[in-house]
Amino acid sequence: MIRAPEVGALCGTALMRRKLVAGNWKMHGSRAANTPLVEAILASPQLERVECVICPPFVYLAEIARQLRGSAGQLGAQDVCAEAHGAYTGEVSASMLHDVGCRYVIVGHSERRSLYGEDDVLVARKFAAALAHGLTPILCLGEQLAEREADRTQEVIGRQLDAVVSLTGTAAFSGAVIAYEPVWAIGTGRTASPEQAQDVHEFIRERLARQDAKIAAALPILYGGSVKTGNARELFAQRDVDGGLIGGASLKAEEFLSIAAAARG
Ligand code: PEP
Repeated sequence: MIRAPEVGALCGTALMRRKLVAGNWKMHGSRAANTPLVEAILASPQLERVECVICPPFVYLAEIARQLRGSAGQLGAQDVCAEAHGAYTGEVSASMLHDVGCRYVIVGHSERRSLYGEDDVLVARKFAAALAHGLTPILCLGEQLAEREADRTQEVIGRQLDAVVSLTGTAAFSGAVIAYEPVWAIGTGRTASPEQAQDVHEFIRERLARQDAKIAAALPILYGGSVKTGNARELFAQRDVDGGLIGGASLKAEEFLSIAAAARG
């Protein structure tokens, strides 16, 4: 068991952690709209300064991978099947995502959890499948509004995190990213305050640090939930906030890039 000051000292190496912004396009886009959006992102110097990940719908991955080739831009998917291959109609495996050029994949987004019934165990299996095939999972954790109001935020986040840790172990997090996304802030225009975000990020980091302080200190933890140009800088200035998972604002190049600039600090 690690003592708090030691955790704090390691977490003080925050400047060493990589900064990252990931754009979750959700079910938006078209071939005609995607090309100029990606071109505008590729033309920006931000790409060299902050890790930028674009997560379009599955059908556009291969085409956008070709556009990104040779650039610093990274490609991610929005979901992955927990199984490696087989008779799973409609599903896409981690090895297929890797094959078309993905290096990241979002797992456990709240829309998958609430609209498609993904539970903590399935999310943990998806996390493990991603890692097993060379992808960096972006693990989404977040509480519902009623859970926050009932003062159950830590209990919910702890449960979601522990489900993954108990399947993969803490060491697996050296190849992962976490996104704290309060469900009440996603797509609502209602953002967590910088202090609320920092509290939960610190809670996540300290929970992992109890198992492995070095891995916890190096782990990028993103904030997601109605991030925009006007609030990004303050959120990203928090000690344990290492960038953002961006939904709506990632569909406008200028907005996404100014959020990326804020992540750089
Ligand atoms: C998301 O989809 O992960 C998200 C954070 O969406 P938005 O930025 O639109 O709230």
